[in-house]
Amino acid sequence: MSEKIVWEPYTKNRCMTEPRATTPVGIVVHSTAVKGTKHTRWGQGSPWDTETSSKAAHALIDTDGIWQTLPWDVRCWLAAGDANYTHIQFEICEPSKDTDENAKNLYEKTLYLCTELCKMYGISSWDVVCHAEAHKMGIANNHSDVTHWWGKKGTPWEPYTMDRLRADIAAALGEEKEEGVMYTAVVKTKYDGQINLWSNTKKSKSLAKLKDGTTVTIEEEVGAGWCKVSYNGMEGYCDGKYLVDRKPIEDADVDEPEENTPEMPDIIENETEDGKIIIDVTFKGLSPEQLDKVLEVLDLA
Ligand SMILES: [Zn+2]
Repeated sequence: MSEKIVWEPYTKNRCMTEPRATTPVGIVVHSTAVKGTKHTRWGQGSPWDTETSSKAAHALIDTDGIWQTLPWDVRCWLAAGDANYTHIQFEICEPSKDTDENAKNLYEKTLYLCTELCKMYGISSWDVVCHAEAHKMGIANNHSDVTHWWGKKGTPWEPYTMDRLRADIAAALGEEKEEGVMYTAVVKTKYDGQINLWSNTKKSKSLAKLKDGTTVTIEEEVGAGWCKVSYNGMEGYCDGKYLVDRKPIEDADVDEPEENTPEMPDIIENETEDGKIIIDVTFKGLSPEQLDKVLEVLDLA
C-alpha cells in the first residue's frame, strides 16, 4: 500500500498564519458528516481558509488523495478542546455513495496516514482515536464522528472500525504484543474523573471506582478496546482508552543493579615545551563519594 501526501496548505487560516507549535502525542480521526464532499470543500482556498475561520484540519482525505493543509506540529481547530494542542487531526470527506470500493479506499488512506504519523512522532496505535472517543476522553467536544458511519452494520463500513484501525496500525508499526507482557497504566479521563473496574466486559458489576491518576496493571488486552486489569488485589476489566501512559513491566530479575567497580585510572603524561610534566588522570567507575576520597588523598579537593 503506497499513498502520497500532497502538501496543499491553508494560506489565510490563522492556524497557518499565526502558528502555535505543538508536540503531537496522538491522532484524532474525524469525518465530515456531509456526504459527497471532496477536500476542496474544506482545504486551501475554501471557506475554512479565511482569516476569520474557526476551523482548521491538519489534513483532509478524500477518495482521490491525502491533502496536508497544516504542518503536523502546529495547533489545529477541529476538536474544540485540548486535543487541538496535542493531537494531529484530519477529516475524512464522506463520499456521496458508500460503496465497498469507497470504503476500502478511504480506510486504506486513513491507515496509511495514521501509520506514517505514528512513525514520524513515535505515537502508539492506542493513541489514535476518533472524535467521539476523544470526547469520552475529555479532550474534544461532543461529536459522534466517525462512529456514526464506521462499523455500521449492513453497510460497506461494517468491517472498518477504530479498533481495527488501531490493530492494523499496530501491525504496520510492528508494535510488539508479546504474550505475557504486562503494562502499568494511569487512569485519565477529564469530565468524569473516574472509571469503573468492571467484573466483566458486559459491565455486570463495578468492583471499584478508579480515580484519575490511579496507576493500574494491564494484564492483557482482551479485544474491543477492553483491558484485563489488576488493581489493589482485585482483577477486572476497564475500557482501555482511559488507560494512558502505558509502560511495559520489565521482568524484575533480569535487571541486575549495575556494579560500581572502580577501574585503574587512565594516566596520560605530557611534557610541555618548558619541561614541565602534566599528568592527566581520568578516573572511571567511581561514585561521587569515592572520587571525593581520591581527591582528598591527593589533596586536590
Ligand atoms: Zn469531528
